[in-house]
Amino acid sequence: MSAVILDGKAVSASLQASIREQVESHFTPETAPRLCVILVGENPASASYVRTKCKMAEKLGFRHEVFHFDENVAQNEVEARIDACNADPECDAVFVQLPLPKHLDSVALPNRVRADKDADGLTRAAMGALLLGESNAFQPCTPRGIITLLDAYHLDLTGLDAVVIGRSNIVGKPMSLMLQKKNATVTMCHTRTRDLESHVRRADLLVVAAGAPELVKGDWIKPGAIVVDCGFTKTPDGVIHGDVDFESAKERASYITPVPGGVGPMTVISLMMQTLESALKRAQK
Ligand code: NAD
Repeated sequence: MSAVILDGKAVSASLQASIREQVESHFTPETAPRLCVILVGENPASASYVRTKCKMAEKLGFRHEVFHFDENVAQNEVEARIDACNADPECDAVFVQLPLPKHLDSVALPNRVRADKDADGLTRAAMGALLLGESNAFQPCTPRGIITLLDAYHLDLTGLDAVVIGRSNIVGKPMSLMLQKKNATVTMCHTRTRDLESHVRRADLLVVAAGAPELVKGDWIKPGAIVVDCGFTKTPDGVIHGDVDFESAKERASYITPVPGGVGPMTVISLMMQTLESALKRAQK
């Protein structure tokens, strides 16, 4: 039996329709949600991520602006721009595209974004709120997108043995907190985990965010498991690889995300949803 595909592209498309409706009913083109992006240097992957986000913002009728700095920009110049976005009542959301060049402080700069404009959900304030289970803050976009995707397929996570591979700040750590909130029993695995395979074999729900192409073999998957693959690695021949061997895993899983077309579109739409939520608060003031 082949798994049901958790189609992030389709779920994103239906969310886009609802976001567009809300933009049309609450805003004019002059007052539409406005997303500000801080981009430094010429990293092609960063430029491509920013283009994807701006294209989606455009499609949804948002205003958007990219503040693109030279590779050698001084820390205080970027700080001044973030401060200006923070103070600008017309800016609803601001995020700093990572990675930053080495001479810039990659922790301090994203953390300078005001909590109520942190649509990326990655500042200390947002992470702290998530840890404390406070629901009024923005959340990291990739795990939020995964929860939205699982909800769209009405998957009840209560009591499931969930295994998360990867403990990064942007995916693994916040994912584990969100799965606990959904009443799953969570195990975190990482590079120092002994016998990764044995953990995967007992997972009812597996979320892989390792950045290690085809790390998880299909025959490790527990029959009927839900499999979410965040991995996104482009090899020099241009082929995109997930962290799970999709073809063999889909024969054992009950639900599985494809790569691409699973987690990626859900990350982008989460950023847009949080930008809209911020703009709606502005509109109510
Ligand atoms: P990261 O490098 O910051 O963290 C990777 C984590 O995986 C680490 O905690 C490490 O301990 C663990 N890990 C790595 N290799 C492992 C192995 N062999 N066994 C066990 N654990 C291992 O990466 P990240 O930023 O969390 O991203 C992970 C992957 O998800 C990447 O491929 C990235 O491109 C992708 N990603 C995709 C999206 C999206 O929207 N599609 C968003 C974020 C990340």
